[in-house]
This record gives sequence, C-alpha cells and structure tokens, in this order.
Amino acid sequence: MSTSSRKICMLIGDPVTQSLSPAMHNAAYQAVGLDEEFVYIAACVKATDLPTALSGVRALGIKGVSCTIPHKQAVIDLVDEVDSLAASIGAVNTVVNDNGFLKGYNTDCAGVVAPLQRRLDLKGKSITVLGAGGAARAAVFGLIKEEADVLIANRTAAKGEKLAEEAGCRSAALTAELNLADFEVIVNATSVGMFPKIEESPLQIETLRPGQIVFDLVYNPYETKLIRDSKMKGCAVIHGLEMFIAQGAEQFRLFTGESAPLDVMQEVVQSILVKTL
Ligand code: NAP
Repeated sequence: MSTSSRKICMLIGDPVTQSLSPAMHNAAYQAVGLDEEFVYIAACVKATDLPTALSGVRALGIKGVSCTIPHKQAVIDLVDEVDSLAASIGAVNTVVNDNGFLKGYNTDCAGVVAPLQRRLDLKGKSITVLGAGGAARAAVFGLIKEEADVLIANRTAAKGEKLAEEAGCRSAALTAELNLADFEVIVNATSVGMFPKIEESPLQIETLRPGQIVFDLVYNPYETKLIRDSKMKGCAVIHGLEMFIAQGAEQFRLFTGESAPLDVMQEVVQSILVKTL
C-alpha cells in the first residue's frame, strides 16, 4: 500500500508532547504488519479549537482519535454517537471514524477491567475504588458492568456518594480508619503518590492484607509507594502502566479491527519511561 493511502490515527490534547501513545501505537502497527496501512501522530489542540479539529477529522478522513485532557468531556457533543458505557462515565477518550460517522468510546474502562480480568473473574468480587474523579468513574462503571461489588472511597465523601448513586454502588469516606480487610481488590484512582509527591500513599500500610490485589492507576513513578507497601505486605500488585497499555490496546482494536500486541506495547512504553521518569 502506498504511503498516501495510509489511515491516520491521532492523539489530540493539550499538552501532548510527553505522550507515550504515538510510540506505542506505531510500534504496535509495525509488530502486526500494519505499519504500511496505519500511522499514528499527535497534535496539540486547544480546548477552543476542538470543534474545528473534529471537523478536520471528518474532512481529512482521520480513522481514529485518542482524546486526552482537556477534551474528554467536550468531545461528547461533537460526535454522532456515544457508546453507552462512555455515556454513563461522561467521558470519551476514543473516536472511531466509520466513513464520516464518528462514534465515541471510553477505553479507560478496559484499561482497568482487562488487567484485573487477567488475574481473576470479576463477577461478585468485592472491590474498593479509591477516588471519585475521571479515572475512578471509568473504573467504577467498568467494574460494575462486570458485576463486581464496588465500594467507592473518596476523600470528599459527598463526591463519592454522588458517583455511587449514579453507578448504583456503595461509598465511604477515604479516612485512615477505613477498614478494607474484606476487599479482594483495591484500585487506587486518586492522584496520591504521583510525581513529584512520590512518598505519599492513599492508604496506610496497616490497611493492606496479604493476598489482596492492589492496582495503582498512577504510573508516574512506575513503582509508587502504594505498590511498594503492597508488595511488602504480601499483596499482588498491578502497575498503572498496565492500565495505560490496556486502554491503548482497546483503541488499537477499535481502530484496526485486530488484537493488539501487548508485549510489544509494554516493551516500547517501558523503555521510554526508563529514560524519562
Ligand atoms: P482527578 O479527576 O483530578 O481526580 C483525583 C482524585 O484524587 C479525586 O478523587 C481526589 O479526591 C483524589 N485526591 C487528590 N488528592 C488527594 C489526597 N491528598 N488524598 C486523598 N485523595 C486525593 O484525576 P483523574 O484524572 O481521575 O486521575 C487520577 C490518577 O489516575 C492520576 O494519577 C492519573 O495519572 C491516573 N490515571 C492513570 C491512567 C493510566 O492509564 N494508568 C489513566 C487515567 C488516569 P477529592 O474528590 O477529595 O478531591
């Protein structure tokens, strides 16, 4: 196939310079022999320019778009259809262009659900999601769809209650007294522990119990304090990077129709992070 007939996929956000997505998607296209057919680029798009950018997606026949901050909510009103899960979450991070018809999805859900499903059957499992922001919303709706028994624990209890009401689950205030011993899985969807405050953790080590699965969505640094504490306590851990790769893998599937080469994506992203984080 000639270069001119390549399908273009792209990331739009502001900023995008640090994004790992172009390297990850292009390496994935190459690994499965789709690099002659697909190419992935990134463009910095200001919030005020989003409508024009989406018109450009239609006019230029851009095949797929990954949307990041600040566009995940605003893009909902600019596509032709929104997938039901993305509509519940209230955020679209992926747009697929099917001959001019734009459909929005949220692959952050798969980013949380797929890594957990590789380790356990989620149906009926008791899972605490720490946080009630954007990442927590994707986690909560994704986990409830898989019939997990979810408790939301948020610092601002009222915000957690509101999300719990929307999603149809329980909530509690995230305090030092919160007892999580009965939970099989803990998902950290707060920003606590993120660079530069890398010595902070949303939970005290005493809260953790051996055998629990602790999934920290924070991926900068790669090894957070929560992950280090969890290992020390005998918990199984899942790094935030696995979410980033899983959400990208779902985008790859939506854009190309093929399964993503997870190993290659992991290798590329990790090699970049080793140099930059
Ligand atoms: P967000 O919408 O700003 O939400 C932040 C959440 O963290 C809120 O629930 C907030 O609680 C809580 N929080 C902040 N500071 C806290 C503190 N000191 N103690 C307790 N809770 C605190 O952020 P987001 O977009 O959901 O992102 C959350 C994290 O997930 C970030 O670290 C982000 O990098 C990560 N993430 C990772 C991926 C991935 O691919 N791995 C994807 C998306 C996001 P209040 O409501 O009380 O303020």
